[in-house]
Amino acid sequence: MHTPHPHHPAPTPEQLQQQLADVGLRATRQRLLILESLLVLPGHPTAEQVHQRVTEQLSSVSLGTVYKALDSFVVAGLTRRVASAEGSRRRYDADCTEHHHLVCADTREIIDYCDPQLDELIRGFFADKGLPGFQPHSFSLHVTGSRVVDPPTAEPAQQA
Ligand SMILES: [Zn+2]
Repeated sequence: MHTPHPHHPAPTPEQLQQQLADVGLRATRQRLLILESLLVLPGHPTAEQVHQRVTEQLSSVSLGTVYKALDSFVVAGLTRRVASAEGSRRRYDADCTEHHHLVCADTREIIDYCDPQLDELIRGFFADKGLPGFQPHSFSLHVTGSRVVDPPTAEPAQQA
């Protein structure tokens, strides 16, 4: 199942090397492959899905190696873990810009959701109310629900 995630163009080997160099990680062949797979797989892949794609090109890479590399990417800020209601299955998000997630309770599909108006609302809420003893930096909503197959009315496009 492919989400309507805006696809990043496939990165060039030079771009991948640069990304790793920028965060101080050595560009090993394994890391390059794992990073590339993370970037080209649609949606929010699991470590298993990344591993699957990596082994198509380099069969000797273990799942443990993929987990370790992904965790180092998270620490380095190249990717994020998706806070997911899906138990122990880790999902990764190559999109490190601020966005929210709509999670389909039936299929576990995770759909990216961006709305500057919503962000403004939340920022304003915290600015007005404040959080005692806490300074928020960022926020990400995790909205669980069900996909509606046929919307009753077609909403006009929100984005001008
Ligand atoms: Zn996402």
